[in-house]
Amino acid sequence: MHAMFEPHDSQAEKARLADLYTRQRKAFAAEPFPAFEIRLSRLSRLRHALLQHQDALATAISADFGHRSVHETRLLELFPSIAGIKHTTRKLAKWMKPRRRGVSIWFMPASNTVIPQPLGVVGVIVPWNYPLYLAIGPLTAALAAGNRVMIKISEYTPRFGEALRRALAESFDEGEVAVLNGGVEVAQSFSGYTWDHLLFTGSTEVGKHVMRAAAANLTPVTLELGGKSPCIVHPDFPIATAAERIMHGKCLNAGQTCVAPDYVFIPEGKQAEFIDAAKAVVAKWYPNAAQNPDYSAVVNSRHLARLQGYLQDAEQKGAKVQPLAAVDAASGKLAPTVVLDVNDQMTVMQEEIFGPILPVLTYRTMDEPIDYINAHPRPLALYYFDYNNQRINRMLAATVSGGVGINETVMHVGQDDLPFGGVGASGMGHYHGHEGFETFSKMKPVFAQSRINGIWMMRPPYGSLVARLLKFMLR
Ligand code: NAD
Repeated sequence: MHAMFEPHDSQAEKARLADLYTRQRKAFAAEPFPAFEIRLSRLSRLRHALLQHQDALATAISADFGHRSVHETRLLELFPSIAGIKHTTRKLAKWMKPRRRGVSIWFMPASNTVIPQPLGVVGVIVPWNYPLYLAIGPLTAALAAGNRVMIKISEYTPRFGEALRRALAESFDEGEVAVLNGGVEVAQSFSGYTWDHLLFTGSTEVGKHVMRAAAANLTPVTLELGGKSPCIVHPDFPIATAAERIMHGKCLNAGQTCVAPDYVFIPEGKQAEFIDAAKAVVAKWYPNAAQNPDYSAVVNSRHLARLQGYLQDAEQKGAKVQPLAAVDAASGKLAPTVVLDVNDQMTVMQEEIFGPILPVLTYRTMDEPIDYINAHPRPLALYYFDYNNQRINRMLAATVSGGVGINETVMHVGQDDLPFGGVGASGMGHYHGHEGFETFSKMKPVFAQSRINGIWMMRPPYGSLVARLLKFMLR
């Protein structure tokens, strides 16, 4: 089936987009505040659709990638999607409740409440690297908050896009949830619609285009972007443990993970030990990496060439490139590779790597990695390896990043009760868990005046009563 796959017709997808947008707007107007039971039913239908179609979805992603480990798809995409839906289902009643807020003495006995209200029709733009999780995560939050949702899948994952469209069309009317495919021109057109909220996941560069397009309509955006996420290993931390956890984060999906460790700071003198340990874990996890089904491919030849270009550029500028396994490039895969003696003139230290290449830098005092990180755009994730709480707190206070992993990489993304989102160049806004629900809700403040109240004392004509009151109020 996959060999026969026909790419989507972008013109036709644009027409669907226009059509479905109107349909979703009408559907939302007819049901602007879906009841708890309706939202619950949407979450339950979503969960069943994913579980029922899991094989087709994983096979489609693998075909789009050339090869994507089916276990990785289940572990890193399906599992967090299902766990997120379950968490949301459990918490939904609580999140939907209006919240009482305080009233100052001057306005008593009025009452204040914040009501979470559905925003309307939400747009979601998805990148290719985790196409399932990065579509379902935002969808879960937006449905829980009572919205209609339209999702644009990346042109790099058309087979997956078609599989998802089919899976969701079985359980949802397209007026509730719609999946759009097609080329970049469809994505561009999509970002120009007036959404009640637009969540974009992708690169920092494209994020700027999306925000510009959204600005024309004052569409509020959440931008989940990328960047270079550093790791720092303290001299007291066991180097083999750090190597194992960093390489795990680097090798998942062949490094094509937004929160993958991008580069690592190792204490001076421990570099060789780190590389030996990294090589050992790669050999243990991926014997015969080129054929090994557990090791994923680079998504396409353009990205493979980009990564090989980083290595050549680094080597030409004096770096030492050391593959940790033997992998023939004809396999569409790239070996996990460390790069030593790097500097900021090399593209590998300028661009987000987004592949299984790990530059290894060394430091003498902790100020060096901290100063380096602070002199560069704010990372999406920061990983610090240390068992000393005082030093951990120092690192947390000295750096600003989207999220932090202490003594672990990547796992913070899968925590249902932690918000997820970048800062500065790595993005803006949050989703996952309660923050996701709030992102897709208008948290509407409502002030309700009481039948009997004292506001009349503050109305004109201003005489001695107001003067006395003001004296008291402005103390
Ligand atoms: P990308 O920015 O090239 O594309 C992302 C999406 O935007 C795709 O669906 C694409 O079709 C669409 N697009 C492209 N041009 C557009 C335009 N002008 N207007 C509107 N939409 C447009 O990113 P990618 O290569 O698919 O994904 C990799 C990047 O995404 C990396 O930088 C990675 O760090 C980042 N990422 C971030 C997160 C996160 O949660 N923060 C997660 C995954 C990936």
